Amino acid sequence: MPNYYQQCIAPDCGAEFDLDARLYVCSRCGGLLDIERREAIDSASLRDLWRQRRTSLDPRDRSGVWRFREFLPFTEETEIVSLGEGNTPLYNAPRSADYCRLPQLNLKHQGCNPTGSFKDTGMTAAVTQARKLGARLVVCASTGNTAASLAAYAARSDLLCAIIVPSGQVSHAKLAQALDYGAKVLEVDGNFDTCMNLIRELAEDESVYLVNSINPFRIEGQKTVAFELAEQLEWRVPDHLVVPGGNLGNSSAFGKGFRDLVACGLIDRQPKITVIQAEGAAPFARFYSDHAHESFVNEEHPQTLASAIKIGAPVSWQKAWRAVRETGGSVVTVTEQEIADAKAVIGRDGIGCEPASATTVAGIRRLVDARVIKGNETVVAVLTGHVLKDTDYVMKYHSDELVGPDGERIVGNFGNSPIRVAVSQDLQDLQDILKIL
Ligand SMILES: [Zn+2]
Repeated sequence: MPNYYQQCIAPDCGAEFDLDARLYVCSRCGGLLDIERREAIDSASLRDLWRQRRTSLDPRDRSGVWRFREFLPFTEETEIVSLGEGNTPLYNAPRSADYCRLPQLNLKHQGCNPTGSFKDTGMTAAVTQARKLGARLVVCASTGNTAASLAAYAARSDLLCAIIVPSGQVSHAKLAQALDYGAKVLEVDGNFDTCMNLIRELAEDESVYLVNSINPFRIEGQKTVAFELAEQLEWRVPDHLVVPGGNLGNSSAFGKGFRDLVACGLIDRQPKITVIQAEGAAPFARFYSDHAHESFVNEEHPQTLASAIKIGAPVSWQKAWRAVRETGGSVVTVTEQEIADAKAVIGRDGIGCEPASATTVAGIRRLVDARVIKGNETVVAVLTGHVLKDTDYVMKYHSDELVGPDGERIVGNFGNSPIRVAVSQDLQDLQDILKIL
């Protein structure tokens, strides 16, 4: 399809490559790649078409990614690999809003995807491309969610799948998913960044296809979340979009999605894209604070209980920086205590998420305090993973047994520990317990 091509995002390079060139970074300068389009898209009837597809039984229309396929670099004939991803809810969350001292707060729950995390929206596009290229083996480095997602999509497409994870640092639930979907799981002594370096070497082999978020097809699939969100808000763009920051694929994808929508006139402005990092794993926040220096310094030993964002060398930082800079957003950090409390507050809205997702609500609370977010502005926070992704964390918090990475105790300020009931306890006692709730 000559209409689409890959392009280096480095301003002083801009090299162009064929859409199907098996590249992950620019072969001239090592910069990240975007997928671009030569001709503009006629968007006149797209809103109606996308809405109509919601009632269709075609698997492409049932997917919240492929429903927007006019903006994806594939043809109508492409055989897609889909698990019916996307179509995730946008929740009004009054308790979380109160906690942030806002009149209203919406949560876009990407944990409601088929494997329980936001990764599925990008993985459907990347694995579709892997099959189109005739790959034998798909690989990724992962803190858990990418592993679960890739394993599932590889299984759907009959591709071999290998995953490299940091040993002992991935939640059991995520590991269990990858094993159940039949992936070969390789546990490495080291952190995520060690795994990422290894996987880059493995991907030198022609028959291997790398699907970490450095892969521009991942970002293309994932950008459709911006489309879905805009549609859910009846094409009224929120003032702020707040996402957790680990490997920074999320902020990159939202940036690309909203940019595409503005370019074709479907929306007239982008939301301010703000990234929240855990204090102990915050190289992007540090870069943001002193970006005048123009150098990005990796975090050698990232530390946080929010394992999904425990990343010190985020591969997509340049794309994320572009999104934050272009939209006038910001990057802030939150503490382990703030993450844990915000997670429990989100839970009280009846919405479960994994710890990394809760950085958003914790960060919004800070930004409201600092008057960066004003009370009359509209805010959407993106939850990235399901509560069942890390139940050990949840149980420890509610039992007041959670200990931070530096050994400090995290207080269960919103704790809700189980009440022990003896077999011999009489009915009156139980009724008394329930009365005081
Ligand atoms: Zn380049």
